[in-house]
Amino acid sequence: MINAYDYIVVGSGIGGLSTALMAREFGSVLVITKGSINDCNTRYAQGGIAAAIGKEDSPQLHIEDTLRAGCNLSDEEAVRILATEAPARISDLVQYRVPFDTLDGEIALTMEAAHSVPRVLHAGGDATGEYIETTLSRQARAAGIVVLEDFLATEILLEKGRTAGVRVLEGRTGSCEEFSCRYLVLATGGGGQLFKYNTNPDVATGDGVALAYQAGAEITDMEFFQFHPTALRMPGVPPFLISEAVRGEGGVLRNAEGEPFMANYHPSRDLAPRDVVARAIVNEMNRTGTDRVYLDVTHLPAHLVTTRFPHIYSFCLDRGLDITARQIPVAPAAHYMIGGVRTNTWGETNVPGLFATGEVACTGVHGANRLASNSLLEAIVYSKRIIERTSGRDGSAAPPLGTPEDITLPLGARPGPELFPPPGLAALQQLTWDHVGMVRNAAGLDYAAEVLAAWEDTLPEPTGQPSYELKNLVLMGRLMAEAAAMRQESRGAHFRSDFPETVAAWQRHIVWKK
Ligand SMILES: Cc1cc2nc3c(=O)[nH]c(=O)nc-3n(C[C@H](O)[C@H](O)[C@H](O)COP(=O)(O)OP(=O)(O)OC[C@H]3O[C@@H](n4cnc5c(N)ncnc54)[C@H](O)[C@@H]3O)c2cc1C
Repeated sequence: MINAYDYIVVGSGIGGLSTALMAREFGSVLVITKGSINDCNTRYAQGGIAAAIGKEDSPQLHIEDTLRAGCNLSDEEAVRILATEAPARISDLVQYRVPFDTLDGEIALTMEAAHSVPRVLHAGGDATGEYIETTLSRQARAAGIVVLEDFLATEILLEKGRTAGVRVLEGRTGSCEEFSCRYLVLATGGGGQLFKYNTNPDVATGDGVALAYQAGAEITDMEFFQFHPTALRMPGVPPFLISEAVRGEGGVLRNAEGEPFMANYHPSRDLAPRDVVARAIVNEMNRTGTDRVYLDVTHLPAHLVTTRFPHIYSFCLDRGLDITARQIPVAPAAHYMIGGVRTNTWGETNVPGLFATGEVACTGVHGANRLASNSLLEAIVYSKRIIERTSGRDGSAAPPLGTPEDITLPLGARPGPELFPPPGLAALQQLTWDHVGMVRNAAGLDYAAEVLAAWEDTLPEPTGQPSYELKNLVLMGRLMAEAAAMRQESRGAHFRSDFPETVAAWQRHIVWKK
């Protein structure tokens, strides 16, 4: 193995870069990322980042909103930390020079679904993620942090049960290398590419979950995957996200018959929780026999739409749709991986030396459903705590992972490999969209789990990046399908048509451990 580092960080989104920037005070740092530095989910975040900094707001209110969204499955301590440390982490971002939008000299705050007060900071109107990502990558370059681009992490290396480093595939040469470190921080983001319709960039292939599972880390809450209600649905156009903030500013959902329908589903109407809005849309699409509904902002002042949502406005206009004059065709799309690599409140996994932050991590903050704009926040709050932990500044014993009620088990074998030849990405995405999507049932989940298990067995050894990513997605899909089949209830983002009620006995977590 070459090049011993104190910290190796895998991933260069908000989780990876903020960890790297803080870690450099305490040791040598290497960042490995599989695309270019700015290829990540972070860059696409539109709505913003939540923090209780407004006069009407308090961390306690933020805690209550987050717990309510999490449907009794959030870790209360993790949520308390998230909300109380949020203002300080926003100050860090301001110090890094993230140019948050202002109003009358104060940071501007907007409303988003299931928040009880305006709490969401944004930058460039609807380009928050882009501003955060480019600011952090500029800071990382200025600080001289080594970032290896086009390097794919393919295996976590262990020595005597402790994390020793990481094996990587260099994209340009196709050669493999090993790097050693004291602390390995996974910041590999989510896995939206598992589904046919998704809002994520190509790099979101669940690699961190697969790598961590293979290394013996606990993976939890995989049955909870958030579908965003409003992604653009136009022929030949990718499912580009139409931010929740559009409804926060007064946008109204209408069905194919032109009727506003959300009042029929929830007292908060268009600002109901994401899973409620997404299922209401599916219901309206089924009822009216179409594959889309419409988001209407034509009643809002055109100036408000173009200045508050310049990115969405110009994306649609470039495709022939002037959203100030015509309604936006939308449908739900896979968006955010709620589950992931289980960590305690210091970002530690059960494998010594292995940490996780950002979307790949499951800190317990989101429970069964993520409150909008809490994910960028979770990444910076818990990245900071990883550095406090590893630099010895936390001064406390390691809090335990999980609770005694949790169900912990390895993935079992399933029969039937000869029936299913190895898949391509499109076949995988179709299978999961059809059977592990927004509305699930036992027959579909069992079928999907069986096919995925067979694909696991028949996939050839990976050679290049696409084959590694496909293998990772198949494993991630299986962890999701098996957990969703096991959870015989509906809660938050997990909805079973055959078990539509929430069941108190299921107030616990399913944990996969090899
Ligand atoms: C369209 C869209 C809009 C969103 N809007 C919001 C919002 O308004 N507010 C909010 O809070 N959240 C939002 N989210 C969610 C939020 O953007 C993400 O959860 C967050 O940015 C994740 O940050 P991260 O650092 O964990 O991962 P990412 O930003 O995805 O970064 C992951 C990094 O890991 C790298 N990587 C992955 N696998 C490997 C590997 N095997 N080897 C090497 N490198 C690897 C990737 O290339 C990438 O650099 C949005 C997401 C999307 C897609």
